[in-house]
Amino acid sequence: MLSHSFFALVALAASSFLWVPETQACHNHGGSPAYWLANLRNSTGTTSPFMNAPGVRKIRFSDGAAPVLLSAFEKDELERSGFRYFDVTENDLDEVRAQRAADGDLNLVATFPSGPTHQSEVKAIISTLSIDNLKSDLAVLTAYNNRYYRSSTGAASANDLAAKLKTIASAAPGTGGAITVKTFSNTFTMPSVIARIEGTNPTAPVVIIGAHLDTINQGSPMNGRAPGADDDGSGSVNLIEAFRKMTAAGFKPANPVEYHWYAGEEGGLLGSSAIAKAYASAGTAVRGMLQLDMTGYVKPGTNPVVGFITDYVDASLTAFTKTLINAYLTNIGIAESKCGYACSDHASWTSSGYSSVFPFESTFSNDNPSIHGDGDTVNVNGFDWDHSLQFTKLAVAFLMELSLPGSATPSSSSSSTVVTTSTSSTRPSSTTTTARPTSTTSSSSRRSTTTTTSSNACPRWWPNCPWA
Ligand SMILES: [Zn+2]
Repeated sequence: MLSHSFFALVALAASSFLWVPETQACHNHGGSPAYWLANLRNSTGTTSPFMNAPGVRKIRFSDGAAPVLLSAFEKDELERSGFRYFDVTENDLDEVRAQRAADGDLNLVATFPSGPTHQSEVKAIISTLSIDNLKSDLAVLTAYNNRYYRSSTGAASANDLAAKLKTIASAAPGTGGAITVKTFSNTFTMPSVIARIEGTNPTAPVVIIGAHLDTINQGSPMNGRAPGADDDGSGSVNLIEAFRKMTAAGFKPANPVEYHWYAGEEGGLLGSSAIAKAYASAGTAVRGMLQLDMTGYVKPGTNPVVGFITDYVDASLTAFTKTLINAYLTNIGIAESKCGYACSDHASWTSSGYSSVFPFESTFSNDNPSIHGDGDTVNVNGFDWDHSLQFTKLAVAFLMELSLPGSATPSSSSSSTVVTTSTSSTRPSSTTTTARPTSTTSSSSRRSTTTTTSSNACPRWWPNCPWA
């Protein structure tokens, strides 16, 4: 993920205006993608490429905006910039959502349980989760030079993970074909990986947890060292351990459950976009999707929290997930943050009209400062295995609570209680709304429009920032 540090800096400037891509490219904003692109083209003497030019990519920088055409060179530079965006060249999820709406397939008013109802089953499995396994799994992932989505080592990391998951599945008791592991091919070298535990009702809405396996070194994406211990090796190994222990326990859900390791998150949510579009095209119902992207860092001197992202997620699913904190986690608080457009793979599901939730390692102002380069290792001061284990517990609880028999199924006419934040937790919630873009949501839609402030400050993740 993520460009939060950028937002933190731009918000400090406190000079707000509505950013509209393309149309305001030459005006007063230093921190917008449009300004960045105009500056790049000015420095290279180029203009927007033609639609059919070799390697041209279609990039969307804000919800509902028209895609911008970028040359292959410009896309490479964009990946190094740290801006967040959807690469919609192959999969335009705004079109997917519109088609699902036209087909009557949107579950925008999905409802969720008022709280956990399977505590004995969940606690039996989360008590077996192992930090040692997280450590050994992450050592495997960080040993690749990088897991960049267009590199051979990125592809190897995904194929090796699929083989490992198949070995885990083969050791599971009494599963007899009920577990499948497959790679999901992309238009680039690295596949995504999907593991599935079949439900006793295979056509019931699937419950999904996701992470992104790919990494990036923004100084040198293809060949640079990018261990990606926290971003997002941490979420990736949380999923591996959840899968290992749930299959070892012979877990048999009513709804199918799936574990997704996405490729190409750092290239514009490519892997998750392809899968979300495929599920939408197949008419696959999704009960809910939980993204884990960075779970291993607690800023020294701060108290550990689960930071729930509040934009581009489903508020009801988020409220339900908060109830799992009190039930299954200990010695941890709840905080809230916005992370803006396209900040991780949950956004692919939200953009496709599915329900997603995104619990993050901290508030955005307190996140790991070492991502997107060779410094993202477990040796970072503040890297915290106990913290990452908490998110493994949360992921297991999420899957089990929404898939075990008796879990409510979303329906627009359901009478299930819709959880609100006022009933979700007895813990104090700290809301952090400073130092990031403000967001407004229209009353008639859960889609939101992001208003971004600007400055001429250079964010730390932007190595080629032109106004340093
Ligand atoms: Zn990430």
